[in-house]
Amino acid sequence: MLLCPLCSGSSGNATLAEIGGARILIDAGKPCRTIEGALAAAGIPPQTITALVITHEHSDHVMGAGIFSRKYDVPIYANAGTWEGMQPQIGEVAPRNTRVIATGRDFYLKDVNVTPFKTPHDSNESVGYAFCANGHKISVMTDIGHAGPELLAYVEHSDLLLIEANHDPELVKSCAYPYVTKRRILSSTGHLSNEDAGLALAQLYMHGVRQAILGHLSRDNNFEELALSTVRAQLRAADIPDAAFALAVAHRDRLTGRFEIAE
Ligand SMILES: [Zn+2]
Ligand SMILES: [Zn+2]
Repeated sequence: MLLCPLCSGSSGNATLAEIGGARILIDAGKPCRTIEGALAAAGIPPQTITALVITHEHSDHVMGAGIFSRKYDVPIYANAGTWEGMQPQIGEVAPRNTRVIATGRDFYLKDVNVTPFKTPHDSNESVGYAFCANGHKISVMTDIGHAGPELLAYVEHSDLLLIEANHDPELVKSCAYPYVTKRRILSSTGHLSNEDAGLALAQLYMHGVRQAILGHLSRDNNFEELALSTVRAQLRAADIPDAAFALAVAHRDRLTGRFEIAE
């Protein structure tokens, strides 16, 4: 079982998960050749990708999806709302590769049970994904305005979780963005702050989560060390020792690494 964040942040997102005999690309929000380069760095031939699953239609999640699907004949899975929003951006996708899923309803990719779960974000129908096989679980959840108990329940007992740590609220307030953009980022359907990511992980620790990768960092209102130290401080405040919770940060424009767990 393997998780490789290929790129992560407001300028583009793509993550590879290998589990239950399937190689699943979650989002393709960079030009196709950039994704190919990151896959090569991870040692994954693009021809071996089983499926592309999409979280929502924002361009930082779908930019290269159409080209990738056409070039490698890979099916794209997304719910109806996301299909509607992304179709004009990604061009023609072969009918055999157009797979419409239902939010909240599990489906299978090879031996992997996939759960697309609703996330609070200002798009048509955004989701996160939980992938389960052979008693293991990998989850990906970014672009979440807030992380309430219902949302967290979907990712409990993940062996590995990619969670958003988007910004520091004080940096957002003092940055040069227009007021409406700031309000959007900070709203309950915008993006998750470092602090809220830390609080979410402290909750998830009570439900078996011991390893997380922080992702989708804002380019202007966050940096890797700040995300890491803020989340770590929240875990310590909840009496969770550093050695009991493994943390990493996903890089913006290059492969972060290969996070492996024995199946
Ligand atoms: Zn995004
Ligand atoms: Zn988004």
